[in-house]
Amino acid sequence: MIQSSPYDILFTPIKIGPVEAPNRFFAAPHSTGHGWTEPKGAIALRAMKAEGGWGTVAVGLTEISPNSDFANHPMERIWDDGDLPRHELQVNAIKNHGALAAIELGHGGMQSRNLTTGLPVIGPSGLSVLRPEMPIQSRAMDIADIQLFRNEHKAAVKRSVNAGYDIIYIYAAHGLSIFNHFLSINTNQRSDQYGGTFANRIRLLKEVLEDTLDVVKGERAVALRFSVAEPGKPNGLRHDGEGRDVIEALAELPDLWDVNISGWSNDSLSARFSDEGFQLDYTNFVKSLTTKPVVGVGRFTSPDRMASLIRNGNLDLIGAARPSIADPFLPNKIKNNLPENIRECIGCNVCVSMDAYGVPIKCTQNPTISEEWRKEWHPEAPPISKGRESHLIIGAGPAGLECALTLANAGHEVSIAEARAEPGGRVTREASLPGLSSWLRVRDYRVYQLSQKSNAQLYLSSKMSVNDIIEFGSDTVCIATGATWRNDWVGSTNFDKIMTEKFNLFTPDDIMSKNIPKMSSSNFIVYDDDHYYMASVIAEKLVKDGYCVTYITPLPTIASWTQYTLEQAAITERLQSLGVSFLLNCKMNQDHRFFNIIENKELQIDIKNLVFVGGREPNDKLFYDSKSINSLENIFSIGDCLAPRTIQAAVLSGHQVARDILNRENKQIPFKREQTIH
Ligand code: ADP
Ligand code: SF4
Repeated sequence: MIQSSPYDILFTPIKIGPVEAPNRFFAAPHSTGHGWTEPKGAIALRAMKAEGGWGTVAVGLTEISPNSDFANHPMERIWDDGDLPRHELQVNAIKNHGALAAIELGHGGMQSRNLTTGLPVIGPSGLSVLRPEMPIQSRAMDIADIQLFRNEHKAAVKRSVNAGYDIIYIYAAHGLSIFNHFLSINTNQRSDQYGGTFANRIRLLKEVLEDTLDVVKGERAVALRFSVAEPGKPNGLRHDGEGRDVIEALAELPDLWDVNISGWSNDSLSARFSDEGFQLDYTNFVKSLTTKPVVGVGRFTSPDRMASLIRNGNLDLIGAARPSIADPFLPNKIKNNLPENIRECIGCNVCVSMDAYGVPIKCTQNPTISEEWRKEWHPEAPPISKGRESHLIIGAGPAGLECALTLANAGHEVSIAEARAEPGGRVTREASLPGLSSWLRVRDYRVYQLSQKSNAQLYLSSKMSVNDIIEFGSDTVCIATGATWRNDWVGSTNFDKIMTEKFNLFTPDDIMSKNIPKMSSSNFIVYDDDHYYMASVIAEKLVKDGYCVTYITPLPTIASWTQYTLEQAAITERLQSLGVSFLLNCKMNQDHRFFNIIENKELQIDIKNLVFVGGREPNDKLFYDSKSINSLENIFSIGDCLAPRTIQAAVLSGHQVARDILNRENKQIPFKREQTIH
């Protein structure tokens, strides 16, 4: 007898217009950083999601025409028939696994750059383009331009049909679409039939939706991706205002509603600023206004939550971008009743940062993402290996655990020695800081997987020396002993050591190990010469512990690098709301005095307690001492011990070295490259 499962509802098929999705798992459109120039990488990445059980797999934003050129952001393109062979390969790769293939057609309007094409950026009105870094204005589209745009959109729909896509999107989300710009009273200042009243501002979207339905002739499904709210944007759409009016006005037209919130930083909020399901407060109402299926996102990783959302009628399909990156096999794991094997997204937005840089995305939890084609890495199938060696891994942080798991998955004998009484290294320590508890998922997934294997042993409270390594006598040794925060003022913008007695100086390691005595003064400086998240979470923690904090940085913005993880505005707002004071463009000189770099003026700061968040030094003594022993061969350093970087880089390093160990005789070039000329 087949046992029923609480998750069965997630595996019931659902009609989307003329097509049927085999289940409720919907890999939402997102760019992969491969774009149209590295199609093999993009195709393999999406095919992996289809293989992993996502019933619908969508291709991310695809430019419909040369006057919507996002370069140097590597988007997809379907400008003309020359693009079709790539799309046909993509469609086949997705459909081969029984999934539906969707394509998100888009025109960036006033968010386009047109740097490659040199064409004018177009939009409803002639205003500065919506990229403050670009000193250009848009051309206000006349009626002929609007007709041309509609024709170009129809042509792109036709090409998508010819390529074989099952679902064709109209994209009106993230503020990245021409339809957003026509809808918004900020950017639409027209006085003709496309401007002014709501009915006029929605006209273009409705016309293009109708055009698309005409072209597909009921043979393909038409989806509308629409952001129902633009939180934080002056005059932005509200889900209880015009956002709702759009759904009401077009309720039964599309075959599928894909709803979210805008801009991208709201849609892809990090875990520090949002919980699973954070978009539902905005999108919940949509199902009450349409009979058509609704898909929504919200960093869903819990099967119980997903099943209850379908059961309770909140959504018809569970949309996921980040959870499908972190675990392309999430649906199959639920189907096989192994939800404990899901590698849950930690909401760190490193994937987003890579996309912002325009390079193939990387993921903290899934080191195989983007490597499906170029390195032939599979997230679930262990690397094939001859023989059965013994490996000693020293350090059970992200790098050590990932390395150990990869070797153990290949059937080798693995021993992990960890000096501390608990595993996890930096993720365990950092998870105690405000907003970072999801970092523990990096540890918990790997520790659990290792605990299920008879060929892997984790030894806690086991600090290793060179003699211990010699005595252990394993075939290989991987040293993953991490890094230590510096206290000598060496950081991103200063390479000269400054030792000072002027302050009660602490590092993030001191704060995380609760190594701070009771202070006589309640004032603290947090000096940020790291520029990622650490200084801001330390500031947050100190405020919560009752201290007054002044955040000082030599750069002109707060937590500069977090602009790439889309967290910078939220961090600034959080610190402001906590009453933190800010001194930007401010450095300390060799006399231990702070001065403003722009004004070249000394600042009078009378605060003794200071947390220096700067560089880190690798804990590599054990590695170099072991390397110098002749009898020890096959010693590798990995993770922060090799080079202090992000948690994502540590995991990738652990994974890579494990694969290199398994493939020692056959070391190849780092990865295959996509060559344009063969
Ligand atoms: P990474 O990010 O590279 O994984 P972490 O700093 O997170 O690095 O983890 C390093 C781990 O190594 C820490 O948990 C630390 O306790 C452990 N460690 C450091 N030195 C030794 C040692 N000599 N023997 C065993 N474990 C060690
Ligand atoms: Fe999730 Fe971070 Fe991976 Fe992105 S990089 S999918 S946010 S774990």
